[in-house]
Amino acid sequence: MTNEILRVENVSKAFAGVKALDQVSLTLQEGEILCLVGENGSGKSTMIKIISGVYHPDQGDIIINGHSYKQLTPIESMREGVQVIYQDFSLFPNLSVAENLVINEQLSSGRRLVNWKETYKTAERGLEEIHVSIPLDAMVSELSTADRQLIAVTKAILAEARIIIMDEPTTALTQKEIQSLFEVINNLKAKGISTIFVSHKLNEVTEIADRTVIFRNGRKVMDQDAKNLDIKTMEFYMTGHELDLDNSQLAQPDQQAAPLLEVEKLGLRGKFKDVSFQLRPGEVLGITGLLGSGRTELALALFGETPADSGTIRVEGREVTIRSIQDAMRNRIGYVPEDRILEGLFLQQTISDNIIVRIIDQMVNKIHLIRAGASKKVSDEWIGRLEVKTPSGELPAKSLSGGNQQRLVLAKWLASDPRILILNSPTVGVDVGSKASIHELIRNLASQGMGILLISDDIPELMQTCNRLILMRRGRTFGVFDREDITEEQLNQEMVADRVFSI
Ligand code: ADP
Ligand code: MG
Repeated sequence: MTNEILRVENVSKAFAGVKALDQVSLTLQEGEILCLVGENGSGKSTMIKIISGVYHPDQGDIIINGHSYKQLTPIESMREGVQVIYQDFSLFPNLSVAENLVINEQLSSGRRLVNWKETYKTAERGLEEIHVSIPLDAMVSELSTADRQLIAVTKAILAEARIIIMDEPTTALTQKEIQSLFEVINNLKAKGISTIFVSHKLNEVTEIADRTVIFRNGRKVMDQDAKNLDIKTMEFYMTGHELDLDNSQLAQPDQQAAPLLEVEKLGLRGKFKDVSFQLRPGEVLGITGLLGSGRTELALALFGETPADSGTIRVEGREVTIRSIQDAMRNRIGYVPEDRILEGLFLQQTISDNIIVRIIDQMVNKIHLIRAGASKKVSDEWIGRLEVKTPSGELPAKSLSGGNQQRLVLAKWLASDPRILILNSPTVGVDVGSKASIHELIRNLASQGMGILLISDDIPELMQTCNRLILMRRGRTFGVFDREDITEEQLNQEMVADRVFSI
């Protein structure tokens, strides 16, 4: 039988009169993976801070290991085995992995001399606990974000954590890194350690959760076994309204019009082979498949970043050679990358500069100065058209929320006036509300005559935006489906079948 390790009872917390949490209760069992889900501002972080003793609730109790607290302090919370993995991981970049792992012990023992042999032994034991290997003498500053996160988790284990809390831990991770984090979380579970995983990425939640709790406006609106919980239901609870859509709202491509893009037997050795399709004006064509199916490589080939080495590409009936990004842009092909932070935006630069960066050539006058008036006009226009929420285009891009940064990446590409737009996972990491409006934007762009290739593994997203879908498996087109002829379940099964395949 399971044992309850944590119980939060009727907790409320207000900030300057605004209720961040309103009479919220929840429980956590030993070895349970609890996902805490909700839109931005719904109260998730506030709950975490109450459990870890950073905030005191205005009302309610926190019961850990059977001990009841009205005013839990951070020290008490840690003594009860609660460890929070903060987003900056609270590590010392200039110390080695081993030093970071044992520093708490060192500090609290008060010993001046470091016993290196013991340090390494403890550090090694910690890493073994979570089944990862990271060189002990590497400097933390040299590690990837994912490895730093694993070090932070290891540190929590060495501090004898029984409850590990992660607030939006996958924000800066790649798909592969997310999978290894999930493995670690499952290893913790096997040891009876509980995890509270805060996220608004619903596909991750379906993958990792034992139980899911949803917050909306500071209230708990759902608490359910994760087994039978699908993404649609979660979206419904998060937003309070159904995001469903019928076919009539999809863009209606002109079936008579000549194709904008024709791809014939396109291939790139080792990546994909024999890919053929046509894209009409006004059409949203989904390209889906698991990671490694070749979907991103295909997009990058069409955009000239890693050109194809066989087959032909025709744009508006003309055969074209796409060997570079410049070639693609000349043919009015735009590409919105998957990782908007790493590839899509200059976060320190202003919003306005980010929008005009692709079209700067058109705005430079004879003496090579950018005409300030012209650039402001263009960027203001796109801020307006895409409803980027900001008081001014002169603020840095990093001041925008995730959903608005994604609009900014789109604005940047739309300003260069593409006819064919390739979108790679355009709503990864954005909240549900922004997601719905990005989908609407995609349908609108298509209805204005653009051809859109949407690369995504988010099934509801594909169903809500695409006219047709191409399923890729191991570098080949496995099937082409009309949106009308396939259901969400069928598509899901096709994808799952692929997972079985690839093992
Ligand atoms: P989430 O983590 O779900 O995005 P938060 O718990 O951070 O949400 O925030 C919930 C609400 O409480 C929001 O309206 C937020 O603005 C408010 N809030 C959170 N922390 C503070 C604070 N320290 N001061 C004032 N308001 C806060
Ligand atoms: Mg938060």
